[in-house]
Amino acid sequence: MSSKYSDVKLHINGKWRDAIATETLDVINPATEGVIGTVALARTPDLDEALEAANSAFRSWKSVSAFDRYNLMRKAAALLRERADQIAGIMTLEQGKPIAESKIEVAVGADRIDWMAEEARRAYGRIIPPRTEGVYQLVVKEPVGPVAAFTPWNFPINQAVQKISAAVAAGCSVVLKGPEEAPASTAALINAFVDAGIPDGVLNLVFGIPAEISDYLIPHPIIRKITFTGSTAVGKQLAAKAGEHMKLVTMELGGHAPAIVFEDADIDVALNVLSANKFRNAGQVCIAPTRFLVHENLYEQFVDGFTKIAEELPVGDGSDPETKMGPLAHDRRLEAMEGFVSDAVAKGANIRTGGQRVGNKGYFFQPTVLTDVSTDTRIMNEEPFGPLAPITPFQDFDEVMEEANRLSYGLAAYAYTRSTKTAEAAGAALESGIVSINHHGAALVETPFGGIKDSGYGREGGLEGLECYLHPKFTTQAN
Ligand code: NAD
Repeated sequence: MSSKYSDVKLHINGKWRDAIATETLDVINPATEGVIGTVALARTPDLDEALEAANSAFRSWKSVSAFDRYNLMRKAAALLRERADQIAGIMTLEQGKPIAESKIEVAVGADRIDWMAEEARRAYGRIIPPRTEGVYQLVVKEPVGPVAAFTPWNFPINQAVQKISAAVAAGCSVVLKGPEEAPASTAALINAFVDAGIPDGVLNLVFGIPAEISDYLIPHPIIRKITFTGSTAVGKQLAAKAGEHMKLVTMELGGHAPAIVFEDADIDVALNVLSANKFRNAGQVCIAPTRFLVHENLYEQFVDGFTKIAEELPVGDGSDPETKMGPLAHDRRLEAMEGFVSDAVAKGANIRTGGQRVGNKGYFFQPTVLTDVSTDTRIMNEEPFGPLAPITPFQDFDEVMEEANRLSYGLAAYAYTRSTKTAEAAGAALESGIVSINHHGAALVETPFGGIKDSGYGREGGLEGLECYLHPKFTTQAN
């Protein structure tokens, strides 16, 4: 077992502790397949304690001034920055991404806490002019109540901090179910808040059997809001359950981002930016470019360039500073990649490079470029969530927009062109929550992040992210 990795406990009502039934799950290093530690597995009695703690903490936390919440959150952000190197090492051990990416994730996590802390100080209401003299009409923003949050393994800090920073800044309490595959990074995030002095019960962290926990938390009367990041299939189940119980919902679900390279694009910029974002976190990113649509006049040049970048990409253990792409996070993704590739090849696709597992230890998969991929293949319809790049030629604007908007996903879309007219037309035509043109500008702390169609609803980041944890309350008073 690595000396850096400690077993991960639950955090309930201000205490780090084992599960009541003392059950645990193993945590695996995806680069070695070795067990590096355990994570405590919560059952209903643990959840009941977390719910009671969140309920009682909400009553006092909602009355703490936004200024005092801000001061505490700024301390948590500073602690996260101080501990960035150590937390990044843990993240790479349990999740697999290169150490440089882990460091960025911790640093951005701190920025998110700062931004939400600051923004909540400006959660202004308003006074509406009355129809009758002596009447006052007041709108104030109130926190929605205790939140149940569910976050995945691909960004164990970022996915959690998006939710908890907005919730805590708004005055809500939280029961967070973190990722069992990468629990220590999420625990380190919570610990920064604990050490900054967050009152007991405001932030509770549990792990366990995901369906068992969501089945219990979503209908529970203490919980007022559900927020989930993960696959569309699971998101639809959770949203349906939340709907039955009239709970507020934010859903950050899957994507299948078109990346359009028009005839007049700067091909070097397109190749560099798109390949970096294709292979970041081994492609396990909901806004990763996943359908490459390239004008026929640039097509061969783009395929050759992308193939060369993929072939030269250093793949290995994320703890090695030379590594640019680590393993997939767990064995399910490896099987998924093999399934996508074999299905595409059976339907006529050509593998320009990659297409296979690397070695037989660790969940490594080759950076892969596929051409001649028909639209009836699984990879052109299901979120690949891995280092696969299917590249398809197109002839004109209408044709490429039809393909870009063909799927029920609508999270991110990318376009490259030197023409302002084409850029504006693409920006308007793409059915997507996020459109990034000629660069990768998605997912900044101050900008809204989220999808349309089957990619979900609600936003994280930006003013919109805070609003998802606030109710407008209208009071009218006559003298
Ligand atoms: P999965 O669908 O089993 O799980 C995805 C996430 O949802 C995990 O964090 C899991 O713990 C959680 N989950 C699953 N069932 C749940 C339930 N009933 N209640 C509460 N949480 C539940 O798949 P997986 O193999 O872990 O990941 C594969 C797919 O998940 C990917 O193809 C991708 O589409 C999606 N995913 C998306 C994101 C994202 O950032 N949007 C992150 C991770 C995974």
